[in-house]
Amino acid sequence: MRRRRELLLRYRDELDRADEELSERQPEDVQRATELWDATVLAHLGESDARALLEVVQALRRLDTGDYGVCVTCGEDIAPARLDALPTAATCIECATIGDRDRRHRRDLRPSA
Ligand SMILES: [Zn+2]
Repeated sequence: MRRRRELLLRYRDELDRADEELSERQPEDVQRATELWDATVLAHLGESDARALLEVVQALRRLDTGDYGVCVTCGEDIAPARLDALPTAATCIECATIGDRDRRHRRDLRPSA
Protein backbone atom coordinates (compact mmCIF):
# COMPACT_ATOMS: atom_id res chain seq x y z
CA MET A 1 0.00 0.00 0.00
CA ARG A 2 2.74 2.45 0.95
CA ARG A 3 4.86 1.77 -2.11
CA ARG A 4 1.83 2.12 -4.34
CA ARG A 5 1.06 5.53 -2.84
CA GLU A 6 4.63 6.71 -3.16
CA LEU A 7 4.64 5.73 -6.80
CA LEU A 8 1.43 7.63 -7.44
CA LEU A 9 2.65 10.64 -5.47
CA ARG A 10 5.83 10.79 -7.51
CA TYR A 11 3.78 11.13 -10.70
CA ARG A 12 1.61 13.61 -8.89
CA ASP A 13 4.55 15.94 -8.21
CA GLU A 14 5.28 16.05 -11.90
CA LEU A 15 1.65 16.76 -12.71
CA ASP A 16 1.40 19.45 -10.02
CA ARG A 17 4.38 21.21 -11.51
CA ALA A 18 2.77 21.11 -14.95
CA ASP A 19 -0.52 22.34 -13.47
CA GLU A 20 1.14 25.29 -11.72
CA GLU A 21 2.75 26.30 -14.96
CA LEU A 22 -0.54 26.03 -16.79
CA SER A 23 -2.61 27.90 -14.19
CA GLU A 24 -0.63 31.08 -14.83
CA ARG A 25 -1.75 31.18 -18.41
CA GLN A 26 -4.89 32.24 -20.23
CA PRO A 27 -7.54 29.55 -20.73
CA GLU A 28 -6.93 29.27 -24.46
CA ASP A 29 -3.22 28.96 -23.78
CA VAL A 30 -3.89 26.24 -21.24
CA GLN A 31 -5.70 24.19 -23.83
CA ARG A 32 -2.82 24.59 -26.26
CA ALA A 33 -0.21 24.01 -23.57
CA THR A 34 -2.00 20.92 -22.33
CA GLU A 35 -1.99 19.52 -25.83
CA LEU A 36 1.63 20.49 -26.24
CA TRP A 37 2.55 18.95 -22.92
CA ASP A 38 0.63 15.80 -23.78
CA ALA A 39 2.35 15.63 -27.15
CA THR A 40 5.75 16.16 -25.54
CA VAL A 41 5.16 13.53 -22.92
CA LEU A 42 3.73 11.09 -25.42
CA ALA A 43 6.64 11.67 -27.80
CA HIS A 44 8.99 10.46 -25.10
CA LEU A 45 6.95 7.50 -24.10
CA GLY A 46 6.27 4.26 -25.80
CA GLU A 47 2.67 3.41 -26.43
CA SER A 48 2.34 1.21 -23.38
CA ASP A 49 4.05 3.85 -21.22
CA ALA A 50 1.64 6.49 -22.50
CA ARG A 51 -1.31 4.30 -21.61
CA ALA A 52 0.23 3.61 -18.20
CA LEU A 53 0.66 7.34 -17.60
CA LEU A 54 -2.95 7.97 -18.55
CA GLU A 55 -4.00 5.30 -16.08
CA VAL A 56 -1.86 6.93 -13.40
CA VAL A 57 -3.42 10.35 -14.11
CA GLN A 58 -6.88 8.85 -13.85
CA ALA A 59 -5.93 7.03 -10.64
CA LEU A 60 -4.66 10.33 -9.19
CA ARG A 61 -7.95 12.01 -10.06
CA ARG A 62 -9.79 9.27 -8.22
CA LEU A 63 -7.39 9.71 -5.30
CA ASP A 64 -8.34 13.42 -5.23
CA THR A 65 -12.07 12.74 -5.37
CA GLY A 66 -11.89 9.90 -2.85
CA ASP A 67 -12.97 7.32 -5.40
CA TYR A 68 -9.64 5.51 -5.47
CA GLY A 69 -10.05 1.78 -4.93
CA VAL A 70 -13.71 1.89 -5.93
CA CYS A 71 -14.83 0.26 -9.17
CA VAL A 72 -15.89 2.97 -11.65
CA THR A 73 -18.35 0.57 -13.24
CA CYS A 74 -20.24 -1.05 -10.37
CA GLY A 75 -19.16 1.10 -7.39
CA GLU A 76 -17.95 -1.86 -5.34
CA ASP A 77 -14.58 -1.78 -3.58
CA ILE A 78 -11.75 -3.16 -5.67
CA ALA A 79 -10.06 -6.10 -3.95
CA PRO A 80 -6.82 -5.02 -2.19
CA ALA A 81 -4.97 -7.88 -3.89
CA ARG A 82 -5.99 -6.49 -7.28
CA LEU A 83 -4.81 -2.98 -6.32
CA ASP A 84 -1.51 -4.44 -5.14
CA ALA A 85 -1.03 -6.11 -8.50
CA LEU A 86 -2.45 -3.19 -10.49
CA PRO A 87 -2.36 0.08 -8.49
CA THR A 88 -4.12 2.02 -11.24
CA ALA A 89 -7.01 -0.43 -11.59
CA ALA A 90 -10.25 1.49 -12.19
CA THR A 91 -12.56 -1.49 -12.14
CA CYS A 92 -12.99 -4.59 -10.01
CA ILE A 93 -11.91 -7.90 -11.47
CA GLU A 94 -15.50 -8.85 -12.31
CA CYS A 95 -16.14 -5.69 -14.33
CA ALA A 96 -12.69 -5.88 -15.95
CA THR A 97 -13.48 -9.40 -17.09
CA ILE A 98 -16.92 -8.42 -18.37
CA GLY A 99 -15.46 -5.32 -20.07
CA ASP A 100 -12.89 -7.37 -21.93
CA ARG A 101 -15.55 -9.81 -23.03
CA ASP A 102 -17.85 -6.95 -24.14
CA ARG A 103 -15.12 -5.33 -26.18
CA ARG A 104 -14.35 -8.58 -27.96
CA HIS A 105 -18.05 -9.22 -28.41
CA ARG A 106 -18.68 -5.79 -29.94
CA ARG A 107 -15.76 -6.23 -32.31
CA ASP A 108 -17.19 -9.55 -33.45
CA LEU A 109 -20.57 -7.94 -34.01
CA ARG A 110 -19.31 -4.99 -36.02
CA PRO A 111 -21.66 -4.61 -38.99
CA SER A 112 -20.08 -5.45 -42.32
CA ALA A 113 -22.32 -3.16 -44.38
ZN1 LIG B 1 -17.02 -3.58 -10.71
